[in-house]
Amino acid sequence: MLNPADPEFIAHLTSLLGDDILRPASELYLEEPRKRITGHAGAIVAPRDTNEVSQILALCSEHQVGVIPFGGGTGLVGGQLMSADQGVAPLILSLERMNKMRDIFPTENVMIVEAGMTLAAIQDGAADEDLLFPLSLASEGTCQIGGNLATNAGGVNVLRYGNTRDLCLGVEAVLSDGRVLNNLSRLRKDNTGYDLKNLLIGSEGTLGVITAASLRLSARPARVGTAILTVRDPAAALELLSKAREITGDAVSAFELISGTGMEFVRDTLPGIHQPFAQSPEWSVLVEFGVPAALNPETLLEDLFVTGSEAGLVTDGVIAQSLAQRTEMWSLREHIPAANKKIGAIGSHDISLPLSEMARFIPLGMAEIAKIAPVRVNCFGHLGDGNLHYNVFPPAGQKASAFADYKDEIERLIHDLVHAHGGSFSAEHGVGRLKSGELTRYGDPTKRAMMQQIKQALDPRGIMNPGAVLD
Ligand SMILES: Cc1cc2nc3c(=O)[nH]c(=O)nc-3n(C[C@H](O)[C@H](O)[C@H](O)COP(=O)(O)OP(=O)(O)OC[C@H]3O[C@@H](n4cnc5c(N)ncnc54)[C@H](O)[C@@H]3O)c2cc1C
Repeated sequence: MLNPADPEFIAHLTSLLGDDILRPASELYLEEPRKRITGHAGAIVAPRDTNEVSQILALCSEHQVGVIPFGGGTGLVGGQLMSADQGVAPLILSLERMNKMRDIFPTENVMIVEAGMTLAAIQDGAADEDLLFPLSLASEGTCQIGGNLATNAGGVNVLRYGNTRDLCLGVEAVLSDGRVLNNLSRLRKDNTGYDLKNLLIGSEGTLGVITAASLRLSARPARVGTAILTVRDPAAALELLSKAREITGDAVSAFELISGTGMEFVRDTLPGIHQPFAQSPEWSVLVEFGVPAALNPETLLEDLFVTGSEAGLVTDGVIAQSLAQRTEMWSLREHIPAANKKIGAIGSHDISLPLSEMARFIPLGMAEIAKIAPVRVNCFGHLGDGNLHYNVFPPAGQKASAFADYKDEIERLIHDLVHAHGGSFSAEHGVGRLKSGELTRYGDPTKRAMMQQIKQALDPRGIMNPGAVLD
């Protein structure tokens, strides 16, 4: 049984680290982006360095007080906050003050950063050296690299560069008893035993607090080209992706599926966002190529348009002719979540499927959902990674609350279908508290048992993000 982070415990903490360690309680730490959970906490602390994190965790372990590591608070599965009915008041440990770049090694393509640096600041730091940190999410101005690592975040460039796990060479982390794991490796090759960095990546704060990371940077593509091409259907989009890979020699940086419903949502709720077509096409893809200076990305995109049109895959398209047009295209894609929020979703599903199952799954899911209720589906996302955001909305003019009774049934239907097609109920957002039941339902029992054994070994008092991932 855990103890609350009560006034007596907070007094111990401040006698050790001073009052300045505390942050005022605010909705910043106690609300999540979709406002589905209201969190509670005994206190919020913001340590200044790894040593302070270590002292805090040692004290929490001694007093058996739960700790929730907190990054930018943009997580979408409730991993960064706990409601009052989920357990006694925890301590929220925010990494916001640990936000510096420790070092950069341009010739090695390596950057070492503290966990509280925002993703956007890391991208800027790499750009200052004419290098690229390719992780890119719509939440990049707020989310922190510690949170990205803890959730193994994906985003729009996974197709080419991999997810956060693939971009990390090593981590520094504090374990539940206060011990510090020093593993800020700059090595590409290091086969010296278990890969502990990869145990912490994706562990959503349940095994320790990531305090710093060494990141793998890439060369910046000299030239970038972007287009939105309308496609016959998702099957055509997947065929087009293969052609894009052939044409560019695998230099496709992004390949994002956009549905007509998504474009209409943006048109209706965010009229300031530029629309590339007078009428929203039923399906389109945002394609981005990043190529060396000797190649012309616009010419390659034209090739793709012509090849795709001749094969009956592409029906229309716009190729950006300037940085401003590229920005407009990305703005359309990146505002889909904001438009979804304004429309009000009945349910959101971050699913992944084997690539060859996707084209069949998309219409099948819609047909099955329609048997439950006359709802709309906005299916969009990282098609090239097999990752779809399959979100369900009320019919036009109606409120999501009127369909609340169908939410669970629709979610069960989608996750059962995904499971039957060899997919995952969480492609990139993680498990957190909102999907821990799904892990029990769909996860391999041996995998779950191993996860519990690892948790027991590294966090024997159960203080690290209690109730997240393993409920
Ligand atoms: C508009 C929008 C768009 C998004 N797009 C994407 C997308 O394309 N791809 C994607 O993958 N996600 C996306 N997300 C989800 C979210 O941004 C990511 O999950 C992100 O990685 C969370 O980072 P954060 O710093 O906000 O973490 P938080 O929300 O603060 O925390 C998330 C989890 O990580 C743990 N944690 C945080 N910091 C640490 C640390 N230092 N050590 C240990 N554990 C820690 C927390 O306890 C929690 O369990 C999006 C979210 C929004 C709001």
